[in-house]
Amino acid sequence: MEQLLNLIDGELRPAMGGGWLDVHAPATGAVYAQLADSDARDVDMAVEAAHRAFPAWNALGREGRSAALLRLAHLIEADLDGFAQDESRDNGKPLALARRVDIPRAVANFRFFATAILHFPSEAHLMDDIAVNYTDRQPFGVAGCISPWNLPLYLFTWKIAPALAAGNCVVAKPSEVTPLTAYRMSTLCKVAGIPPGVLNIVHGLGPKVGAAITAHPRIPAISFTGGTRTGAEIARVAAPLFKKLSLELGGKNPVLVFADCDFDDMLNTTVRSSFTNQGQICLCGSRILVERSLYARFRDAFVDRVRALRVGDPGAEATDLGAVVSKDHMEKVLAYIELAQGEGGRVLCGGQRVQLDGALANGWYIAPTVIENLGPQCRTNQEEIFGPVVTLQPFDTEEEALSLANATPYGLASVVWTSDVKRTHRVARALQAGIVWVNCWMLRDLRTPFGGVKQSGVGREGGVDALRFFTEAKNVCIKL
Ligand code: NAD
Repeated sequence: MEQLLNLIDGELRPAMGGGWLDVHAPATGAVYAQLADSDARDVDMAVEAAHRAFPAWNALGREGRSAALLRLAHLIEADLDGFAQDESRDNGKPLALARRVDIPRAVANFRFFATAILHFPSEAHLMDDIAVNYTDRQPFGVAGCISPWNLPLYLFTWKIAPALAAGNCVVAKPSEVTPLTAYRMSTLCKVAGIPPGVLNIVHGLGPKVGAAITAHPRIPAISFTGGTRTGAEIARVAAPLFKKLSLELGGKNPVLVFADCDFDDMLNTTVRSSFTNQGQICLCGSRILVERSLYARFRDAFVDRVRALRVGDPGAEATDLGAVVSKDHMEKVLAYIELAQGEGGRVLCGGQRVQLDGALANGWYIAPTVIENLGPQCRTNQEEIFGPVVTLQPFDTEEEALSLANATPYGLASVVWTSDVKRTHRVARALQAGIVWVNCWMLRDLRTPFGGVKQSGVGREGGVDALRFFTEAKNVCIKL
């Protein structure tokens, strides 16, 4: 069985403790690889290696670092199909989605930050003829990057790329649920000319490896993407150590559908924004709010479209939804569907596990589920389910739509469907969210600030915000 090793100081090695964790394929439920079960000793070794590598990596300058990251991007792209196959096997997502979105975006992350660093500006503030100030932005040494399972390589590289481009070395931990593509990437670092110790990947469990990275006194900054509860724990540990923190957390995103929208475009996109990646994207819209005059038409058309989605073999071209990521997660999502019914929700379609045949008989599949008849305060509409489950709620006025949209502790993304320009601006301003998509979804420009408000996170990633996070600003004031 394949063994997935740590990358520390340029070498692929097992965990120091010698332990292994099972890695499952969600499509079949079978164990297909063993993962290094690392602990604080492996993290220590990685941090030492990273500190040794830092001066030379930083001294390489922007052009040198950029060239190395572009080579890594090129190597991933040249093996796009191998990476996509691995991502689909490890996560259960449709292979076509991994080919079209996950892996190209990982390549784009490296290309974007490898070139963004070449254009990263420093400000100057002139005090008439008294003095001149300039801002020197320097890397701080070693960054800790911790990522989740839903978009494994996509989000892993979203953190690593800006950290490395800015001149830091990295100790990174992918999710133990989906470590395969991070491992595959670690086998390319040497060929790409990334010097030993610059990028270290330590595999294993969150409470062991993630906690050791968070608490390590020689890692001054942590970039984390994952659940809100884990984010709170990281903040609790990191705060007394005065670490810089970027926290990208959960969501319960609203989709506001006004009667004046382009119905067909809205319908097509809302099917995608609900169920892409089995609903396991932090940006998926899980609460669909529909103006009452359109409600019945929308509900009927939406449910027809959702019933036609094919749940099946992630490797098959025709599959719309693959498997959810783990048995635990499947059980959690099914428990939420049961809870929704207990709360008075009416299941319009889906609502159960999908049992496939043959080799896929033990895989973890859930039918895309649409529920109506639930108020904004019930748990189904308050808590993140993170699976193929959406609710529908009608509204009468713009004011009511906003009040429903803002009625959760989360504030990551939101989607608005309308053709009224004035309403677009009003609603976009009033939504409590870090991201507002109008008449579109998941349209991403990597230069834009990305992140959430309320319990969806602290800080912004992307573009200049990421490069600022991964550097320390120093003001130099020179008297004239
Ligand atoms: P998770 O919080 O369980 O795990 C995320 C990572 O943190 C994993 O690598 C895990 O091993 C690690 N971890 C767990 N406990 C830790 C600890 N005590 N200290 C340090 N690290 C620890 O999240 P998940 O289940 O992997 O991912 C799903 C969640 O991620 C959802 O809530 C989703 O909304 C969120 N998410 C947010 C964004 C965003 O950009 N805001 C993007 C994707 C996913």
